[in-house]
This record gives sequence, C-alpha cells and structure tokens, in this order.
Amino acid sequence: EEDAAVLEFDEDDEDFEPYVAAPPALAVIGRPNVGKSTLVNRITRSKEAVVEDVPGVTRDRVSYDAEWNGKDFTLVDTGGWEQDARGMHKRVAEQAEMAVDEADAVVFVVDGLVGATAVDEAVVRMLRRKKKPVLLVANKIDAPSQMSEVYSLWNLGLGEPYPVSALHGTGTGDLLDAAVKALPEFAEHGGMIPTGGPRRVALVGRPNVGKSSLLNKLAGSERVVVDSVAGTTMDPVDEFIELGGETWRFVDTAGIRRRQHMASGSEYYAMLRTQRALDKAEVAVVLLSVEEPVSEQDVRIIQMAVDSGRALVVAYNKWDLMDEERRYYLEREVTRDLAHIAWAPRVNVSALTGWHKDKLAPALDTALTSWGRRISTGRLNAFLGELVAATPHPVRGGKQPRILFATQPSTRPPRFVLFTTGFLDPGYRRFITRRLRETFDFTGSPIEVSMRVRE
Ligand code: GDP
Ligand code: GDP
Repeated sequence: EEDAAVLEFDEDDEDFEPYVAAPPALAVIGRPNVGKSTLVNRITRSKEAVVEDVPGVTRDRVSYDAEWNGKDFTLVDTGGWEQDARGMHKRVAEQAEMAVDEADAVVFVVDGLVGATAVDEAVVRMLRRKKKPVLLVANKIDAPSQMSEVYSLWNLGLGEPYPVSALHGTGTGDLLDAAVKALPEFAEHGGMIPTGGPRRVALVGRPNVGKSSLLNKLAGSERVVVDSVAGTTMDPVDEFIELGGETWRFVDTAGIRRRQHMASGSEYYAMLRTQRALDKAEVAVVLLSVEEPVSEQDVRIIQMAVDSGRALVVAYNKWDLMDEERRYYLEREVTRDLAHIAWAPRVNVSALTGWHKDKLAPALDTALTSWGRRISTGRLNAFLGELVAATPHPVRGGKQPRILFATQPSTRPPRFVLFTTGFLDPGYRRFITRRLRETFDFTGSPIEVSMRVRE
C-alpha cells in the first residue's frame, strides 16, 4: 500500500490533477420531525460514508461528504434549521427551497405514518417548479404492517415512495441506489475546472462585510441587485470579471447578490452557500470587515475555507472606516484570531471607494501559484536531508525516528508524504511544515504533510 502511493505519483505529468471537481449535492428536506436528521445520520454513519471530524466545526456543519456504490456526493442536512411555529407552511417551503437551489437532487422526507400534510403539499408545489430529480421517502415505516399510508403518497405525483425506517436503517439501501443514479457526475454548477480556463474565485464572508459591494466595484458598475423572490430564483450564476489583465470567474455570485430577506435559517443558508462556493472554486477570498472584531461566524467561514483545501486570500474591507484606535485593536485581533492562517496574503480594501482593489489580483495570483506548486522529489529530499542534518529529530526513549524518503504526490493543494521509521513528534512535524513553507514559498496555500511509518 505504501509503495502504491509512490507509484501513483508521476512527477513529469503536469496534468496530474487537471481540474477540481465538486461532487454533486443531495439535499434532504421535509417538515420538522419527519426524521431528516435521523436519516442523514443513518446515511453518514453506515457504509463508508465519511463525516469529517473537525473540532468546532462539526456541530455547525450543514453538509457532509458521503459515498455510496463508489460514488461521492455531498449530503445536505436541513434538519438543524430552526423551527418557527408561525407561518410554518411558508417557512418550511422557503427553507427547503434554499437547499433545493443548491442541490443536484432532492430527498423529500414525509412521515409515512401520517401521510401527506398541507405543509408537505406546499413543498411539493415548490419542488415542481424546480424540476430537479426528487426521491420521495415515507419515513418511520419500522414494520411492514405500517405501510397503509404509504400508498396514498402516490397522489403527490412524485413517483414511487420509498418506505424507510431511518431509525432502524431499513429501506435506506434502495433509496441510496436510486439517489446516486439520479445525481449527475459532478455538481451541476461546479463541474470541472479545465486547465487554462478562467480561474475560479469564491468570495465568501458573513452577511454585511461587503461582498456584494466589492463584487460590484470589481465588476466596474453598480449593478441592480436581482431580487430573487421565492419562485423566481435564478440558478446560481458565475460572473466573469477582469482583474489585473486577466479574467477571473467568481463562482455562485447569485448567492452573494441575493438579499438575505429570509430571517429564519438565513445564517444556515449562508453557511451552505459558502461551502458550495468553496467546493467550486480554486481560491477563496474571505472577506472581513474592519467595522467589527472577528466574530464566531467569521472564524467558522475561515475554517471552512481552510478545510476546503483551496488557496486562500484574506481581505479586510471597509478600510475607509479605519482610525487610530480601531487600527490598534485590529492588529491585535489579527495576531490572535488569524494566526493560524498567517500564511494567507492579506489585502486591505474599501469596496466603497475602490481603494486597493487592484491589490486583489496579485494576491490571488500568488495564492494560486503556491497552490499548484510542485517540488521535485530530488529537491524535496535534498531539502529534508539538510534540515534533518542541521536539526535532527529529538531522541525519545532512546529512539529517534528517521525520515527515509519524501514525495509530493499531489498539488492543489500541495500534499507531502514522509516515509519514516517511526512516528514523528507533532512539534517536529510542524517544524518541517513551517520550513517547507519558508523554503519553497507556499504563501496563500494550505499544505498537508502526512507520514507513512515503515517498520
Ligand atoms: P427532523 O426534524 O426531520 O430532522 O427529525 P428528527 O430526525 O429529529 O426525528 C424526529 C423524531 O422522529 C425523533 O424522535 C426520531 O427518533 C424519530 N424518528 C426518526 N426516524 C424514525 C423512524 O424511522 N422510525 C421511528 N419510529 N421514529 C423515527
Ligand atoms: P454583503 O452582505 O457582504 O454582500 O454586504 P453588502 O455589500 O451588502 O454591504 C453591507 C453594507 O456595508 C452596505 O451598507 C454597504 O454600503 C456597506 N459597505 C460595503 N463595503 C463598504 C466599504 O468599503 N466601506 C464602507 N464604509 N461601507 C461599506
């Protein structure tokens, strides 16, 4: 298995990873309490499905990497949405709509013991307009004797209902078989990034930091914000913008321009949108505002960007509001809250005045160059040889693990594998990572260093 990792790697093959592909998204929607979260749990827990375990982020996750029959997809969980007793019909349909807009196929869950309710029918009307593949699930069918209401669900006009017990896991296999068949190969709006095409940028940040203003400024005209009233929502669109003599593709800008007029679930939606945009991009611009200290939501978005493995640029907006005092606190915040992404280039801008908007393209360029940087095996091992000679791994309990060989199996982001005779100290691994960064300049790119221990 270790050897396979080396053999897979072909140093001279420049097209080793010619594109970044976003897996298709499957959204699980339905009224509160029909069992959406239970179903998502069931799917992500069973069968090789992977739930990323990132401390501090997991709780807020709205989507998960999942796999079925060898096909990767993103499972979008809407179970965490706040419930609002007033105007329930509308809320459920609205929130579901947001998830459906981001998805390539939909699992619509109803309570199989209760049958279709008026709220469910409102959701069905919304689904008809969307014209996306829908799988209807009759959940809570824990025993065959409970099938009586299921047949009446044919009346919804969504095809055959899948009887499922999310609690016990029955019926989920058939459901997933059908779901992965309904999903396209890649996310409809993400797809593949061909080499040579305009490079893809995700402009992300919490509401009100100035994403929409900056996009308008960069695009060179104050555009009319397309108000997407429920039902007329357009598909997420990409915008092509000329910066620094090059055309860039800003992905999912419809989400940026859309007014966040839906109070309930809007933060949830913002997170979902952020994650999807990152999936489709090569580089992320995380926009912060000097107006307020770095918030929890900012931190979560930064973490999402880092976890996505995309190149990263941090932009501080509203610099026109800067004064002496704010500046003092801001520098302290940067040191405290952004220390873990000190490798990302930082640009200070004002979307209002356009100040420094020309600084963005060079920063994007730097980050993307790092992201695609490949260090030849020869250079890498020469570097490690010198490093280890100058600063050997500390001896622990009479043992000193040796690094036998290193290779960079992939770029975008750069990943390194060290073959060692024992586990390296976390501190020593961080030291190697830091020196790799400094020596080969990975400004703006996350890098990953992993180990393979050979006995
Ligand atoms: P959500 O609001 O749609 O995410 O629903 P939850 O997943 O939180 O489930 C609501 C309730 O239904 C919980 O008490 C679950 O244990 C229960 N539930 C979910 N799936 C099943 C099922 O297949 N059978 C039974 N009997 N109960 C279920
Ligand atoms: P979004 O929610 O991130 O898209 O933020 P918007 O672009 O809608 O901006 C939120 C508010 O901040 C609006 O009132 C903008 O006019 C204001 N704003 C955006 N950029 C700047 C800036 O550079 N300076 C100042 N002073 N205000 C800004």
